[in-house]
Amino acid sequence: MRNLLEKPSTLRFPYERMEPVERMRAKVSWQIDKCIGCSLCVKVCPSAAIKLIGRGRKAEIEYNVGRCIFCGECVEICPTQTIFTTKEYELTFTRTRQMVTRFRRTKKKRKASSKK
Ligand code: SF4
Ligand code: SF4
Repeated sequence: MRNLLEKPSTLRFPYERMEPVERMRAKVSWQIDKCIGCSLCVKVCPSAAIKLIGRGRKAEIEYNVGRCIFCGECVEICPTQTIFTTKEYELTFTRTRQMVTRFRRTKKKRKASSKK
C-alpha cells in the first residue's frame, strides 16, 4: 500500500535526468598537452580502447569509447594526470566511427613581435 502512494523511483528519460553521482566513472578524456607519450595508459587498458599515435611529447591519443569499460585504470596510472574522468554517461552513436576521438596537441602560439 505504501508503494502505491509513493512517487515512482524511475525517471521519465529523456524528459527527466539523473544527476551524476560524485566519483562516478564515465567517459574519460585527455588534456593532451600534458602527455609525455609514456604509453602506460595503452598498456594498462584491458579493452584496447586507447591508441598512441606518434612518440614522446609529440604523441597523440586515439580513444574508442565503444571499447571502454570505464574501469578508470588509465586515469590511475597516468604519471602526469593527463587523463581524467568526465560525467558524460549518455553515450549514443549512430556510426561506429563517431565513437573514436583523436586528441590532438594544440600548436604553440608564436610570441607577438615587440618590434615597431
Ligand atoms: S577507463 Fe579503462 S577501459 Fe576505458 S580507456 Fe581507460 S583503461 Fe581503457
Ligand atoms: S599514461 Fe598519460 S602521459 Fe602516458 S601516454 Fe598515457 S596519457 Fe600520455
